[in-house]
Amino acid sequence: MSSEKQLSLFEWSNNDDSSESPPDSDSDSSLIPTDAKIPIPSGTYKTMEQIAVHCNQCHRCELGENRTNAVIGRGNPQAKIMIIGEAPGQNEDEQGLPFVGKSGQLLDKILQSVELSSDRHVYISNAIRCRPPENRTPTLKEIEACKPYLLEQIRLVNPKIILLTGATAVKALTGDKRGITKIRGQWMEWEGRLCMPIFHPAYLLRNPSREPGKPKWLMWQDIQAVKQKLEELQGDNNSIDF
Ligand code: URA
Repeated sequence: MSSEKQLSLFEWSNNDDSSESPPDSDSDSSLIPTDAKIPIPSGTYKTMEQIAVHCNQCHRCELGENRTNAVIGRGNPQAKIMIIGEAPGQNEDEQGLPFVGKSGQLLDKILQSVELSSDRHVYISNAIRCRPPENRTPTLKEIEACKPYLLEQIRLVNPKIILLTGATAVKALTGDKRGITKIRGQWMEWEGRLCMPIFHPAYLLRNPSREPGKPKWLMWQDIQAVKQKLEELQGDNNSIDF
């Protein structure tokens, strides 16, 4: 299918006046939430709101059965930094927003420590959009079913830097299966974008020591490196007003 046709799918479904004929069933975008076998071509969505509409009616995996709210993202959808977590928890499922519980509060503090605001300077999402039962780790099947939505979110935000919190997020996006303690703080490239694996804030909550070499101290090193890289990319060491 040509990319023009892919892009026109939404126009067709939202445009009553269109004289064009409807797309055939295997390219009907309204079927996307029904089955993980229906592809989600790059360029399908024009806005986060369109993604949210589909995710809130999605049954590409079984997590859709128990969801209160699909969790799409929060922050600035035009931010230079995108943060990808693992999966929504109870608070996130209830509020429909990522990282709003204790982990989220810590994440906000970490960002504030380098003068980054979670409303203005970052966009936050997760590897998957629905809460797994008992907050278990998402399965590969769930991650794969949800991944096209994540890829569309990344395409729309178009971040310069992606931060991956914890091994599940790293594996979900890049396929890299290494442990987080091995790879945290290292810049890597994924699809031409700069990525850095960092500890998940929940891990820091369980390991609160700030001693040099401990996880919180390492996170402090990592977030400073992120801020520095951002300033380099901005080409202006004195300004975070982007
Ligand atoms: N942990 C995550 O990985 N994501 C959330 O949204 C909340 C907690």
